[in-house]
Amino acid sequence: MIVVMKSDATAAQIEHIAAHITSLGLKPQVIQGTHQTVIAAIGEERPGLTEVLEPGDGVEKVLPIMAPYKRASSELKRERSVVKAHGLEVGGKRIAVIAGPCSVEDEEQIVNLARKLKELGATGLRGGAFKPRTSPYSFQGHKEAGLKMLATARAETGLAIVTEVMAPEHVDMVSEYADVLQIGARNMQNYQLLQAVGDSGKPALLKRGMSATVDEFLLAAEYILDRNNPNVMLCERGIRTYEDHTRFTLPLATVPYLHEKSHLPVVVDPSHGTGKSRLVTPMSRAAVAAGADALIVEVHDDPEHAVSDGAQTITPAGFKEMMDQCRRIAEAVDRTL
Ligand code: PEP
Ligand code: MN
Repeated sequence: MIVVMKSDATAAQIEHIAAHITSLGLKPQVIQGTHQTVIAAIGEERPGLTEVLEPGDGVEKVLPIMAPYKRASSELKRERSVVKAHGLEVGGKRIAVIAGPCSVEDEEQIVNLARKLKELGATGLRGGAFKPRTSPYSFQGHKEAGLKMLATARAETGLAIVTEVMAPEHVDMVSEYADVLQIGARNMQNYQLLQAVGDSGKPALLKRGMSATVDEFLLAAEYILDRNNPNVMLCERGIRTYEDHTRFTLPLATVPYLHEKSHLPVVVDPSHGTGKSRLVTPMSRAAVAAGADALIVEVHDDPEHAVSDGAQTITPAGFKEMMDQCRRIAEAVDRTL
């Protein structure tokens, strides 16, 4: 529910309504606009609440929030959110590009690659130190040692580090080294992890679960937002369908749809979304045209020998070409890259 206060409502009246909302078992969130203050009452909407709040002094009207996700909804906040992390800005006019290997392999690899990517216009460095692998026999990541390698790359290049955290008990450790905590597709509904990332206050890149609906995706984001962490980016990374010509199906209609339903920035991952390196650049172009606020792309000097996801990984030369092409599309949709 949103309580819209009159433009001449006093601070005492606003405070009184906020306290009343708390006494009704809901969480008040005061949003100061240029002309008016609105107070969001977060929690389960139940019949009769509107009638209780509407007569309050200084109240203009009470509106229901129809969406099941409240804090993520554009009904609550109309201006688009911009998430900022160590120079990486997602949600503004400039489209951000987060690039790097699927897995952090060794220090030399990640530092050299980071230098090249920075030169080619990347604003964030991705790389997994904790890897969620389908098979327990596949490489699981270098864990804390990998995080240290990422920190060195950050110190050398200034690029913001985006890396996955897989367990609530690792949130503190990963936060020490990372600028953005990635929550992987397989963990989108790991509610304890979502809450721990929320509590950390760190910017989060939440990937859509491969079998999750968009409403489930937004409700997962709601778990992080509800811990008073507003720094959430939504990442479309493809879903499971009957199609098998690509690893996943990348539904780009999600981008404008999410922009309509939510104020949160939207990131597209054309690497996992297609599973095929030659499809990465065309789908990056399409993502930019669809309004993506950022791209997250897997890049490796030698994809053939990458320890994970080589088939969907492009080379630095391929990345340069992708950037050049996306820059032209960005211009056509009034963005920069
Ligand atoms: C990754 O980014 O390397 C990754 C494992 O992604 P996802 O969770 O989307 O599969
Ligand atoms: Mn990967």
